[in-house]
Amino acid sequence: MTVRDLHLLGSPLLRQRAVPVAAVDDEVRRLVDDLFETMRAAKGVGLAANQVGVGRRVAVVDVGPDAPPPLVLINPVIVQRAEERETAEEGCLSIPDIFGDVARPLAIAVEATDRDGRRYTTEASGFKARAIQHEIDHLDGILFLDHVSAVKRSLLLAKWKKARKGKPGYLKENEVTIRSGEAKLVVMRSNIATILKSGAEAKSA
Ligand code: ZN
Repeated sequence: MTVRDLHLLGSPLLRQRAVPVAAVDDEVRRLVDDLFETMRAAKGVGLAANQVGVGRRVAVVDVGPDAPPPLVLINPVIVQRAEERETAEEGCLSIPDIFGDVARPLAIAVEATDRDGRRYTTEASGFKARAIQHEIDHLDGILFLDHVSAVKRSLLLAKWKKARKGKPGYLKENEVTIRSGEAKLVVMRSNIATILKSGAEAKSA
Protein backbone atom coordinates (compact mmCIF):
# COMPACT_ATOMS: atom_id res chain seq x y z
CA MET A 1 0.00 0.00 0.00
CA THR A 2 1.14 3.49 -0.79
CA VAL A 3 0.19 6.88 0.53
CA ARG A 4 -0.37 8.90 -2.65
CA ASP A 5 -0.11 12.63 -3.24
CA LEU A 6 -3.35 14.58 -3.00
CA HIS A 7 -4.69 16.73 -5.82
CA LEU A 8 -5.79 20.11 -4.53
CA LEU A 9 -8.29 22.62 -5.86
CA GLY A 10 -6.90 23.77 -9.21
CA SER A 11 -6.14 20.25 -10.43
CA PRO A 12 -8.10 19.57 -13.64
CA LEU A 13 -8.68 16.00 -12.43
CA LEU A 14 -11.04 17.30 -9.72
CA ARG A 15 -13.29 18.82 -12.37
CA GLN A 16 -13.50 15.81 -14.66
CA ARG A 17 -16.18 13.17 -14.63
CA ALA A 18 -14.42 9.92 -13.71
CA VAL A 19 -14.89 6.90 -15.99
CA PRO A 20 -16.57 3.66 -14.84
CA VAL A 21 -14.44 0.67 -13.85
CA ALA A 22 -14.98 -2.19 -16.32
CA ALA A 23 -13.61 -4.94 -14.08
CA VAL A 24 -12.22 -5.11 -10.55
CA ASP A 25 -8.66 -6.32 -11.18
CA ASP A 26 -5.42 -6.14 -9.17
CA GLU A 27 -4.86 -2.53 -10.26
CA VAL A 28 -8.28 -1.47 -8.95
CA ARG A 29 -7.74 -3.38 -5.69
CA ARG A 30 -4.37 -1.64 -5.27
CA LEU A 31 -6.08 1.70 -5.91
CA VAL A 32 -8.71 0.89 -3.24
CA ASP A 33 -5.99 -0.02 -0.71
CA ASP A 34 -4.02 3.13 -1.53
CA LEU A 35 -7.15 5.27 -1.17
CA PHE A 36 -7.77 3.90 2.32
CA GLU A 37 -4.15 4.40 3.31
CA THR A 38 -3.98 7.91 1.86
CA MET A 39 -7.31 8.86 3.48
CA ARG A 40 -6.15 7.61 6.88
CA ALA A 41 -2.76 9.32 6.58
CA ALA A 42 -4.58 12.58 5.86
CA LYS A 43 -7.07 11.91 8.71
CA GLY A 44 -10.01 12.06 6.30
CA VAL A 45 -13.32 10.17 6.32
CA GLY A 46 -13.55 9.62 2.57
CA LEU A 47 -11.47 9.85 -0.60
CA ALA A 48 -12.21 9.62 -4.32
CA ALA A 49 -9.76 8.33 -6.93
CA ASN A 50 -9.54 11.65 -8.79
CA GLN A 51 -8.24 13.21 -5.56
CA VAL A 52 -5.11 11.10 -6.07
CA GLY A 53 -5.01 11.75 -9.81
CA VAL A 54 -6.88 8.69 -11.08
CA GLY A 55 -9.98 9.44 -13.17
CA ARG A 56 -11.86 6.23 -12.40
CA ARG A 57 -15.12 5.78 -10.48
CA VAL A 58 -13.62 4.48 -7.24
CA ALA A 59 -13.99 5.98 -3.76
CA VAL A 60 -13.72 4.91 -0.15
CA VAL A 61 -15.55 6.07 2.97
CA ASP A 62 -14.72 5.36 6.60
CA VAL A 63 -16.41 7.60 9.13
CA GLY A 64 -15.15 5.56 12.07
CA PRO A 65 -16.48 3.02 14.57
CA ASP A 66 -19.80 4.84 15.08
CA ALA A 67 -21.01 3.94 11.57
CA PRO A 68 -19.27 0.77 10.36
CA PRO A 69 -18.31 -0.77 8.04
CA PRO A 70 -15.84 1.20 5.88
CA LEU A 71 -17.19 1.28 2.31
CA VAL A 72 -15.52 0.56 -1.01
CA LEU A 73 -17.52 2.42 -3.66
CA ILE A 74 -16.72 1.27 -7.20
CA ASN A 75 -19.12 2.64 -9.84
CA PRO A 76 -21.45 3.92 -7.08
CA VAL A 77 -24.98 5.09 -7.82
CA ILE A 78 -27.37 6.71 -5.35
CA VAL A 79 -30.60 4.77 -5.86
CA GLN A 80 -32.69 6.49 -3.16
CA ARG A 81 -32.68 9.85 -1.41
CA ALA A 82 -34.67 10.90 1.64
CA GLU A 83 -36.76 14.01 1.10
CA GLU A 84 -35.55 15.41 4.39
CA ARG A 85 -32.40 17.45 4.04
CA GLU A 86 -29.84 18.42 6.63
CA THR A 87 -27.35 21.26 6.57
CA ALA A 88 -23.92 20.66 8.08
CA GLU A 89 -20.39 21.90 7.72
CA GLU A 90 -18.17 20.08 5.21
CA GLY A 91 -14.51 20.11 4.43
CA CYS A 92 -12.44 18.39 1.76
CA LEU A 93 -8.93 16.89 1.69
CA SER A 94 -8.47 18.65 -1.66
CA ILE A 95 -9.31 22.05 -0.16
CA PRO A 96 -7.57 21.88 3.24
CA ASP A 97 -8.71 24.21 6.04
CA ILE A 98 -11.73 25.49 4.10
CA PHE A 99 -15.19 24.63 5.47
CA GLY A 100 -18.72 25.49 4.40
CA ASP A 101 -22.33 24.57 5.13
CA VAL A 102 -23.89 22.15 2.66
CA ALA A 103 -27.50 20.90 2.57
CA ARG A 104 -27.90 17.26 1.52
CA PRO A 105 -30.50 14.50 1.81
CA LEU A 106 -30.35 13.12 5.35
CA ALA A 107 -30.43 9.48 4.23
CA ILE A 108 -29.62 7.61 1.03
CA ALA A 109 -29.41 4.13 -0.45
CA VAL A 110 -26.35 3.55 -2.60
CA GLU A 111 -25.55 0.74 -4.99
CA ALA A 112 -21.87 0.02 -5.67
CA THR A 113 -19.32 -2.70 -6.39
CA ASP A 114 -17.01 -3.84 -3.58
CA ARG A 115 -13.30 -4.80 -3.60
CA ASP A 116 -14.24 -8.38 -4.57
CA GLY A 117 -16.19 -7.22 -7.59
CA ARG A 118 -19.59 -7.89 -6.01
CA ARG A 119 -22.47 -5.47 -6.51
CA TYR A 120 -24.18 -4.49 -3.25
CA THR A 121 -26.69 -1.99 -1.92
CA THR A 122 -26.46 -0.25 1.43
CA GLU A 123 -28.32 2.45 3.29
CA ALA A 124 -26.72 5.27 5.20
CA SER A 125 -27.86 8.28 7.14
CA GLY A 126 -26.39 11.32 8.85
CA PHE A 127 -22.66 11.90 8.58
CA LYS A 128 -22.00 8.67 6.64
CA ALA A 129 -24.67 9.52 4.04
CA ARG A 130 -23.08 12.95 3.73
CA ALA A 131 -19.60 11.49 3.22
CA ILE A 132 -20.85 9.09 0.52
CA GLN A 133 -22.61 11.92 -1.34
CA HIS A 134 -19.50 14.10 -1.07
CA GLU A 135 -17.35 11.32 -2.62
CA ILE A 136 -19.80 10.53 -5.42
CA ASP A 137 -19.88 14.24 -6.19
CA HIS A 138 -16.08 14.07 -6.60
CA LEU A 139 -16.48 11.32 -9.20
CA ASP A 140 -18.75 13.69 -11.14
CA GLY A 141 -16.28 16.57 -10.91
CA ILE A 142 -18.33 18.36 -8.24
CA LEU A 143 -16.84 19.92 -5.11
CA PHE A 144 -18.66 20.88 -1.89
CA LEU A 145 -17.93 24.52 -2.75
CA ASP A 146 -20.40 24.16 -5.63
CA HIS A 147 -23.17 23.60 -3.05
CA VAL A 148 -22.53 26.66 -0.88
CA SER A 149 -24.06 30.06 -1.66
CA ALA A 150 -22.31 32.21 -4.27
CA VAL A 151 -21.43 34.85 -1.67
CA LYS A 152 -20.00 32.31 0.75
CA ARG A 153 -18.13 30.57 -2.09
CA SER A 154 -16.32 33.73 -3.16
CA LEU A 155 -15.33 34.35 0.48
CA LEU A 156 -14.01 30.80 0.83
CA LEU A 157 -12.16 31.00 -2.49
CA ALA A 158 -10.51 34.26 -1.44
CA LYS A 159 -9.44 32.61 1.83
CA TRP A 160 -8.11 29.63 -0.13
CA LYS A 161 -6.12 31.81 -2.55
CA LYS A 162 -4.60 33.69 0.35
CA ALA A 163 -3.62 30.46 2.10
CA ARG A 164 -2.10 29.06 -1.13
CA LYS A 165 -0.13 32.20 -1.93
CA GLY A 166 3.45 31.31 -2.77
CA LYS A 167 2.63 27.61 -3.03
CA PRO A 168 2.78 26.70 -6.72
CA GLY A 169 1.02 23.72 -8.27
CA TYR A 170 -1.87 21.63 -7.05
CA LEU A 171 -0.17 18.55 -5.64
CA LYS A 172 0.19 18.06 -1.93
CA GLU A 173 2.67 15.52 -0.71
CA ASN A 174 0.75 13.60 1.87
CA GLU A 175 3.55 13.41 4.39
CA VAL A 176 2.36 15.63 7.23
CA THR A 177 1.14 12.67 9.27
CA ILE A 178 4.27 10.66 8.52
CA ARG A 179 6.36 13.56 9.74
CA SER A 180 4.31 13.97 12.92
CA GLY A 181 4.51 10.19 13.33
CA GLU A 182 8.27 10.40 13.09
CA ALA A 183 8.23 13.30 15.51
CA LYS A 184 6.13 11.24 17.91
CA LEU A 185 8.63 8.39 17.57
CA VAL A 186 11.47 10.79 18.36
CA VAL A 187 9.55 12.08 21.38
CA MET A 188 8.89 8.51 22.48
CA ARG A 189 12.57 7.64 22.07
CA SER A 190 13.66 10.69 24.03
CA ASN A 191 11.06 9.84 26.70
CA ILE A 192 12.42 6.33 26.91
CA ALA A 193 15.91 7.79 27.11
CA THR A 194 14.70 10.11 29.87
CA ILE A 195 13.00 7.25 31.70
CA LEU A 196 16.11 5.09 31.37
CA LYS A 197 18.26 7.97 32.51
CA SER A 198 16.05 8.83 35.47
CA GLY A 199 15.86 5.14 36.28
CA ALA A 200 19.62 4.94 36.26
CA GLU A 201 19.82 8.06 38.37
CA ALA A 202 17.26 6.67 40.77
CA LYS A 203 19.33 3.54 41.12
CA SER A 204 22.54 5.43 41.55
CA ALA A 205 21.00 7.85 44.01
ZN1 ZN B 1 -13.61 16.06 -0.91
